[in-house]
Amino acid sequence: MSSHKPQKPATKTVTAGRKASLTGPVVNVPVWRASTHLYENVAELEAGKARNEDGRFFYGRRGSPTQWSLADALTAMEPGAHGTMLYPSGVAAIACALLSVLKAGDILLMTDNAYDPSRSLADGFLKRFGVETRYFDPRTTDYDALFCDRTRAILLESPGSLTFEMQDIPAICAAAKKRNVVTLLDNTWATSYFHTALDKGVDMAILSCTKYIVGHSDVMMGSVTTHDKLWTKLRQTAQQLGQTVSPDDAYLASRGLRTLSVRMKAHETSALHIARWLQTQANVATVFHPALPDCPGHDIWKRDFTGSSGLFSFIHTGDAATAAAFVDALQLFGIGYSWGGFESLALPVQPEKYRSVVAWDKPGTLIRLQIGLEDTDDLIADLGQAFNGS
Ligand SMILES: *Cc1c(COP(=O)(O)O)cnc(C)c1O
Repeated sequence: MSSHKPQKPATKTVTAGRKASLTGPVVNVPVWRASTHLYENVAELEAGKARNEDGRFFYGRRGSPTQWSLADALTAMEPGAHGTMLYPSGVAAIACALLSVLKAGDILLMTDNAYDPSRSLADGFLKRFGVETRYFDPRTTDYDALFCDRTRAILLESPGSLTFEMQDIPAICAAAKKRNVVTLLDNTWATSYFHTALDKGVDMAILSCTKYIVGHSDVMMGSVTTHDKLWTKLRQTAQQLGQTVSPDDAYLASRGLRTLSVRMKAHETSALHIARWLQTQANVATVFHPALPDCPGHDIWKRDFTGSSGLFSFIHTGDAATAAAFVDALQLFGIGYSWGGFESLALPVQPEKYRSVVAWDKPGTLIRLQIGLEDTDDLIADLGQAFNGS
């Protein structure tokens, strides 16, 4: 049933990763639990050692058809990609992607709005192993000034997951390519469904699958998708570090992927509706959502992305205690980390703690919302009663 016509993203989320020869003639890939491959004889055992490719079961740590099916599906979502490695969390994916390209003496450039654990990896682990990290303003346009002879890699995140600055990914990647600098993008906010990364020039597209791919707040997982030039390095690093995900988790992530398109569209519509409502509220100073025309970076979002997800933030005009009382008063929104599941979440955030080069000194208190799949009338009623009470 394979077709040579390029499929639209929503079709890919449904069809990609199905391979009857590997997973059987069924819609959903079976959960293939296995550590040990039994060989017919010693010659077969010896022959197996030389093979390191998907489609040949070797040993559980290298995955089974359940994990390969998910990895293939994520690869298919990124035009120009050669393969995808899976990791037990998004943080493990970021760490292994960086470790597969960096060595002692290298300089890593990191956007100043990067996810906090990415910064802590750079400032702790990578520093101990001789890699220096330099942070840069996510909105810089002077790309050439970023690089020096020791620059080896650049970690991007667009939009940032607290303050939602957009980066000009194609321009940064073009500047990096001229200097042989590897570009890595944390693409968790949009996923490859709303933003394909490799065709914009990114070398490694990283996802915390824990968020939208899994979509049901019940599995931790990460992925890195790359082209043929970096594939072997990425794969070897993951294998040397013993990175593996369970077939049960891979199954749940595959199951999540099949409904990604409808969930993303629902998150998008509801989040935009609520973001626009918040803009009319007296206790709201600013809403940070790149799909709003008055939000900085909107032009980049419009040019490069095909949609927006359910995560954005706004400044509550009150101080930290007032904003905490507002969040505490919410009944439908849970208070908690993570996002990308079906449930709405709210959280006061303090970006000033995670900045090196661009200070965050806006008055008021930043609150991040993840808009889930509840009815927006109910969510707005909940936000309204919390504003009235705080
Ligand atoms: C959550 C998150 C991660 C890390 O993912 P985990 O699966 O929680 O380890 C990485 N990047 C961003 C932007 C995230 O929000």
